[in-house]
Amino acid sequence: MCRHPRSASVGTVSTSSTPLTGHPRSDLVVVGAGIVGLAHAVDAHDRGLSVTVVERSSHAVGASVRNFGHGCVTAQTGENLRRGRAARERWIALAERTGLWLARSGAVAVARDAAEMAVLAELAEQRGPGEVDLLTSAQVEERVPGVDPATTGGALLPQDIRVDPRNAVHRIAEWLAAQPGVRMVYDTAVTGVGDGVVHTARGDLACERAVVCAGHEVDALFPEAADAAGLHQCALQMLLVDSPRDRTFAPAVLTGTSLVRYPAFAGTESGAALRARFRQRRPELLAAGVNLMFTQRPDGALLIGDTHTYAPTVEPFLGEDHAELLLDEAARLLGTGPLRVRQRWQGVYAASTATDLLVAAPSPRVRAVTVTSGIGMTIALGTAPDILDDLLA
Ligand SMILES: Cc1cc2nc3c(=O)[nH]c(=O)nc-3n(C[C@H](O)[C@H](O)[C@H](O)COP(=O)(O)OP(=O)(O)OC[C@H]3O[C@@H](n4cnc5c(N)ncnc54)[C@H](O)[C@@H]3O)c2cc1C
Repeated sequence: MCRHPRSASVGTVSTSSTPLTGHPRSDLVVVGAGIVGLAHAVDAHDRGLSVTVVERSSHAVGASVRNFGHGCVTAQTGENLRRGRAARERWIALAERTGLWLARSGAVAVARDAAEMAVLAELAEQRGPGEVDLLTSAQVEERVPGVDPATTGGALLPQDIRVDPRNAVHRIAEWLAAQPGVRMVYDTAVTGVGDGVVHTARGDLACERAVVCAGHEVDALFPEAADAAGLHQCALQMLLVDSPRDRTFAPAVLTGTSLVRYPAFAGTESGAALRARFRQRRPELLAAGVNLMFTQRPDGALLIGDTHTYAPTVEPFLGEDHAELLLDEAARLLGTGPLRVRQRWQGVYAASTATDLLVAAPSPRVRAVTVTSGIGMTIALGTAPDILDDLLA
């Protein structure tokens, strides 16, 4: 394995007009320039490896740019909590290195009745101050101005972070392209991966090792691994809206529907009771898989979501009923009238009931890595070092 000299010429970006013939052998080829692929590329570069990232599109447009940009660390449990904590430190360091926008303003979970507050109190008891700090309704209002007057309290999750999903991966990719020993190859579809070679639609790339981070499309390259993990797709509806009266919201804002989805909340005794309560009182929210939450982009607009629909292959059509549900609930949360929508879109990620992280070794020097729940922004940077430790051992 050759360690690239730090004085070598800066990295390069290849586009569709660049044939891959004669491309130098890389220590590592990474397939996919979403957050999972870039997390591996950054870690490999930091280990002194030469890295080639191959991305099918002219720039990343997958799940990594369609999300909330929420480093949802506190709401994880077990291995994902460990990965999320490690990723948090790496995001902060990467923001300093790359100049990407990052806010360490935490998240606020808004409770609007005693059942929701009970979940937060139970988690606060387990985790302690500095991780889950209970808030009065007035303290919630300070952080979420104009919040629904029905708010009874809430919790600050200070360890959570935010990045701007529209820019974060692009900034990391630009930074990588300027590093010695790194090559970014766009507009190039990978068609197969074997030990020592990555086949693309523009020719073969020789490499020592490869990591395939193709998101929900991992099944196209490794159908057996996808089948073994019972992979299917999850489609989420999202909206970008104007902030009412140009209000500023520093933290990510979660609600009761978040408390029945994220494992740290849902796994409490009160979480089970809260789910039963939603089933009885608001079955339409559970049926649409609503996790009502929002984050604010640096330009002030609010990313609002989301709904969850699961299928082997999700339909491309956005049901207006889901959008209306989100907009009504968001307006109530924000204590405001109808919200002005700027954009609507659907994001897709790979889902599995068997695991939150698919890691397959289709051959000794190849790994396929896909986050199989909606937490790739939270854990990818903390996961890649483990994958590379194993692959390089
Ligand atoms: C609406 C929504 C909201 C979310 N909110 C959050 C959140 O707030 N916090 C959080 O932690 N997570 C969130 N997630 C989950 C998170 O966005 C994903 O887990 C993460 O972005 C997955 O990253 P990825 O790199 O695996 O996939 P992607 O970003 O989809 O990247 C995969 C890349 O691989 C490329 N590719 C695929 N096949 C090939 C091929 N054959 N050849 C070359 N290139 C290929 C694709 O073009 C793509 O660019 C959300 C997801 C969605 C959809």
